[in-house]
Amino acid sequence: MKYKAWKKERLKKSIMLLLAFLMPYASVYYSDFIDLLHNKPNTAGIKVFASTLGSRPQGNYGSDVLAINNEFSKERNNTANKFKILMNYKLKTMKIIINNKDAAVLYNKEEADRLINNFKAYYLEKAKVDRESIARLELKGNIEFKEYYCYEWELDTMEGALNKLLAASKNDNLNLEIDTLEKYTEEISPKVTIKSSNELNVGESKTQQGENGSKEIEKKTLYINDKKVKEIIIKETITKQPKETIILQGSRLTEEKLSAVLAKPSRGSVTSFYGMRWGKMHKGTDFAGKIGDPITAALDGRVKEARFEPTYGNMVILSHGNGIETLYGHCSSLKVKEGQRVNKGDIIAEVGNTGRSTGPHLHFEVRINGIAKDSLKYIK
Ligand SMILES: [Zn+2]
Repeated sequence: MKYKAWKKERLKKSIMLLLAFLMPYASVYYSDFIDLLHNKPNTAGIKVFASTLGSRPQGNYGSDVLAINNEFSKERNNTANKFKILMNYKLKTMKIIINNKDAAVLYNKEEADRLINNFKAYYLEKAKVDRESIARLELKGNIEFKEYYCYEWELDTMEGALNKLLAASKNDNLNLEIDTLEKYTEEISPKVTIKSSNELNVGESKTQQGENGSKEIEKKTLYINDKKVKEIIIKETITKQPKETIILQGSRLTEEKLSAVLAKPSRGSVTSFYGMRWGKMHKGTDFAGKIGDPITAALDGRVKEARFEPTYGNMVILSHGNGIETLYGHCSSLKVKEGQRVNKGDIIAEVGNTGRSTGPHLHFEVRINGIAKDSLKYIK
């Protein structure tokens, strides 16, 4: 129906109704009636009319219709409204359009704004964002609000409209971007440094306990809807420097302490002991072995000598400090260089038959302040 024809029809109906029901009061309600004729259609349907007469609205209309209901309740004695309702005119409503697609229809702009707030609240809740930390909250997507005339029954409920918006966000047409900015303090654990100390015996240690430091961290977190997308540390300020923990390990070696730390330098069994042999002093301990068997450092130390010597053949002398040295002789090859630091158990040479030797074996000596001692006294 063309608008003009429809308007004419409306006028006709109005006059007939007026005559039928309200003639006796025509003079009283005259001004309301004139008002109706000059206004754009802005009325609720019969269903709403029923609710205005006192009963609560039924069905899915909920708070939307309650709002309408209240409005009508206030004015239900307004003749013009009675006419509007009876005529079943269309309501002036608010349509929400997202990226050029109709998304939902609500009663008015306030309802539409409430919908947007509900949408934001839904994702804020789901993302478990601390509201106080929010630095930016932005809806991404083209949202338009448009006046729209429709019957009351065409309106979305708030819940229905929210579901439509959530569906749009699943299709990436509407997204809520959340930035949070948090400031918090984090502890800094102290660095641990191990130092050797000549004031403590080998095997002893002492810890100088450090202290935790602290730093203040400013972190920005980006969410899209309920998903955490990015975390950026913006600023880190050390508010208290940590104090390092120092572990002092004893390096002072005494003859008495040596047995606690000296390791066997070869896997072989002892074939010749320290002491007088064939009328001559044998200053070391001989260990059986095949050419190429590994020889390992008996203790941490520094390579004092690694060279050929006519009697000992290829030999290594390790210095362990405090006048203690170990010697490894008759080697087939040397694996370390003078000046190098070695740890207990490191391979430093291989068993051989060089120098004054009658077969492959390791000649091992322990020297304390230059004097060869019985190494088996110290090896357990
Ligand atoms: Zn020997």
